[in-house]
Amino acid sequence: MTTLIAAYNSEGCIGRCDAKCYNATGPDCECICGGLNHGAGVEKAMENTRELAEEWMRQWRTEHPDTEYFLVPAAQLSLWGLLEEGRC
Ligand SMILES: [Zn+2]
Repeated sequence: MTTLIAAYNSEGCIGRCDAKCYNATGPDCECICGGLNHGAGVEKAMENTRELAEEWMRQWRTEHPDTEYFLVPAAQLSLWGLLEEGRC
């Protein structure tokens, strides 16, 4: 399962956006992406994450001040994709 963005505090992972969100067909979830990736499919969701991750992290921090750090694997995945296609 590909995680696009995840938030952590000292306890561990407290929120993330992954396939459960971007492959969802059900009702909206309460996700770190604010629902934008919900049911969007992996490619669109990665695009959204690359563009909006900083915004989501700012928003998330205001609601979850105990957040210590974020991981944004989607940004790295997209970089790998570019490298593999020789566009970077
Ligand atoms: Zn999400």
